[in-house]
Amino acid sequence: MSIKENIIQFQKNIPDTVTLVAVSKTKPVTAIQEAYDSGQRIFGENKIQEMSEKWEQLPKDIQWHMIGHVQTNKVKFMIPYVNLIHSADRLKLFKEINKQAALADRVVDVLLQVKIAQEDTKYGMPIQEAIDLLDSPQLDAYPHLRVVGLMGMASFTDDMNQVAAEFKVLERLFTRFRESKNLKTLSMGMSGDYKLAIENGSTMIRVGSAIFGSRNYQ
Ligand SMILES: *Cc1c(COP(=O)(O)O)cnc(C)c1O
Repeated sequence: MSIKENIIQFQKNIPDTVTLVAVSKTKPVTAIQEAYDSGQRIFGENKIQEMSEKWEQLPKDIQWHMIGHVQTNKVKFMIPYVNLIHSADRLKLFKEINKQAALADRVVDVLLQVKIAQEDTKYGMPIQEAIDLLDSPQLDAYPHLRVVGLMGMASFTDDMNQVAAEFKVLERLFTRFRESKNLKTLSMGMSGDYKLAIENGSTMIRVGSAIFGSRNYQ
């Protein structure tokens, strides 16, 4: 199927309550333009340099989401145009986003990335740390960023029971803080597990290969 057909299928098949982020990392601007022409406006990238280059070349009503690990010293380069940062996973990064957003006179929306996978991953805040942070007033110190939700990645496994269990952990965390922290977005689910993620409360799925085809590298 073409990119266009894939986009149309997703728009038709996912519930209205779920937002589709088309993950275009490693894919050329021509592929993004094709998705754009099919009505898609939200794209996810995992490298700031690549996102900047694509932002320059493509229509300015695209909403760019940063979904990959962010180095603090590169934050400033995406602040002018980034729409949502999914991968805010440590205080040092919150602090830098707040600082750079203040300099640019804007408020940047972020998701707190939580580590839900059993497997060893470097990224995502451990669950207990996330609870402590959300329970504390610490985030109030960063008026130029707004935590609008949570993001998580399940383990890379064929065991769908495990994946579902990990999604449930994040959904519970989301539900617990939804009202008090005014959270709106629960970003979970990728090409291989988005259906399960939606069943478990996801409001935003990040889909790459099921739209654009497989990638040669991450
Ligand atoms: C690459 C990536 C995706 C998309 O993965 P697919 O399996 O191609 O859908 C989603 N989320 C994150 C954080 C990614 O890095």
